[in-house]
Amino acid sequence: MENLKTLVLLQRLDLQLDDLTIMRGDLPDQIEDLEAELEGIKVTVLNAEKFLKEADGQIDAIRVEIEASKEKTAKYKAQQFEVRNNREYDALTKEMDSMAKHAEEMDKKIEAIKAQKEESSKVNLLADPKIKHLEQELKDRKAQLEDITRDTLDEERILLSDRKKLIEKTDKKMIDQYERIRAARDGKVVVKIQRGACGGCFKVIPLQRQAEIKKGTRVFHCEHCGRIIVSEIYFDEIMNGALAVK
Ligand SMILES: [Zn+2]
Repeated sequence: MENLKTLVLLQRLDLQLDDLTIMRGDLPDQIEDLEAELEGIKVTVLNAEKFLKEADGQIDAIRVEIEASKEKTAKYKAQQFEVRNNREYDALTKEMDSMAKHAEEMDKKIEAIKAQKEESSKVNLLADPKIKHLEQELKDRKAQLEDITRDTLDEERILLSDRKKLIEKTDKKMIDQYERIRAARDGKVVVKIQRGACGGCFKVIPLQRQAEIKKGTRVFHCEHCGRIIVSEIYFDEIMNGALAVK
């Protein structure tokens, strides 16, 4: 039955393609992670450099503010000698207190900026070896992946072209169903009967059904997992035989 043969062939191609993906392992993921980490450090360095450029200006601006509040305090103090009643005197005291508090906060702000300046000036120093290390690591991983991919590139190209040919000449509905099962069942769509059970989920297949499957005249799905079940001989023959996609 042509449909059945197509499905097993498709499964064979997909298993071979999956093997190639497995060979690449988590190298593509590792490369992505390394790139993200490197990017993160570079952003931290840039932010630190930006801060260092602006920090002195910030401190100067705060000092101007402190000077202004000192001048105001002096003015309030002078005014206290000219007040006419306690209420005005108290009001000026309150203003002076508030100026003192403000100046104190500004001093703290300067200290914080100075501390951050020190931290920021270390960022570059700490980041440099890290960046160098990550860049080397990234280069190595990329070279590894390239080695693996280069060796299997032709193989992969042929498999993909065979797959395309197979799909083009096959009923679209059947392919859609194949893809659905493939996505739901870890890439294993077509399985063989193994010791009287489904080779996918290992649930027992009734004898009568097994006999029908062995005839190979139509497509049978496992009642439990939905995979397509074929006889062991048929499965092995196509899996191990010459690839016959034309
Ligand atoms: Zn099953």
